[in-house]
Amino acid sequence: MKFNEITLCLDMYGCPNRCKHCWLGVTSNGNMPVSELTDIAEQFRPFTDSLQIYDWYREPDYRDNYRELFELCSRLSDKPIKHFELVSFWRLVRDEEYVKWLSSLGLKTAQLTLFGDEEATDFYVGRKGAYKEILRSVDILIENKITPRIQTFVNKNNIDGLSHIEELIERHDLYNRCKSFGGEFSFFLHQGSCDGENEKLYDVRLTPEDMAKIPPSLEACTLRHFGKNNIAEVFGQTEQSLYNELVTDNSTADIVNGSPVFYIDKDFNVYPNITAPAAHWCLGNLKEQSAEDVLRTYLENKSSAQHTRMTVPICDIVRVCGDKDSLRLFGRGDYIDFMLNKFCRGRTL
Ligand code: SF4
Repeated sequence: MKFNEITLCLDMYGCPNRCKHCWLGVTSNGNMPVSELTDIAEQFRPFTDSLQIYDWYREPDYRDNYRELFELCSRLSDKPIKHFELVSFWRLVRDEEYVKWLSSLGLKTAQLTLFGDEEATDFYVGRKGAYKEILRSVDILIENKITPRIQTFVNKNNIDGLSHIEELIERHDLYNRCKSFGGEFSFFLHQGSCDGENEKLYDVRLTPEDMAKIPPSLEACTLRHFGKNNIAEVFGQTEQSLYNELVTDNSTADIVNGSPVFYIDKDFNVYPNITAPAAHWCLGNLKEQSAEDVLRTYLENKSSAQHTRMTVPICDIVRVCGDKDSLRLFGRGDYIDFMLNKFCRGRTL
């Protein structure tokens, strides 16, 4: 059994935030020993010539020894790992060495998330003070010639707050300040996939009539970011239209690929990186099963969700779990994952 590449992401320390859109779900923070990185890497190494390992899949650089962890992950990986454009705003405002370290790695852009004004952002991040920390982080990044990219997760309850973000971008002169060091400020908005915590916002997902509420300047930035021509392509189809398409589709699917990414939670449960880590996706537990057992479960589509997707036609899943009258908007792939998760949970009740 050999894979082209295996990427392992461990949720070693969790996250300081409790975002209401978090597709990874909100679980308690862990405290895995650093030695687990080496142990787990060695367990998976025989099954690929290209192993990548990361110490996080929720908040990057959350622990004080973030530099040591990054270097260790780089050493354990078959090629040096890159720092993604995701950063910890929690750390940016608490540790002045952090931004210097990000710069030293050559990071040019860092993504931050706003949900509207202070009240909305603190509410959706799940932590009082988050909005002020994010704004301070924007300044810290710009002072260090790293371009902030701001995203907003939008739903029926916060869409009216988009004008606040439009004003904020203007007031803080973000385009010109980034241009002054050769950066290009960018912004985009979207709904996020309907899984993890975000599934709880299903009732307030946007419908086509909401598109007119998006300020034109933010719409233009979003289209530029996604390389799309109209906003409908960003927000997808109505559930009704997806339901009508899928209810006549009797296909099943094999989600296995030759370069998988696995999430390993603080309790050593392993999940494929498809949708929210949940019991029906679990491939095994590394304290009870070997890496080989876990990989075989993955390859043979034996997790409950994989088995369901392989054996139950999507039309049957949608017929049980979909709402043929709903005008909520979804991307097609996200909708299928949402239906599959709902179906699997229903089966295990
Ligand atoms: S979305 Fe990111 S920052 Fe928010 S709770 Fe999830 S992992 Fe943490």
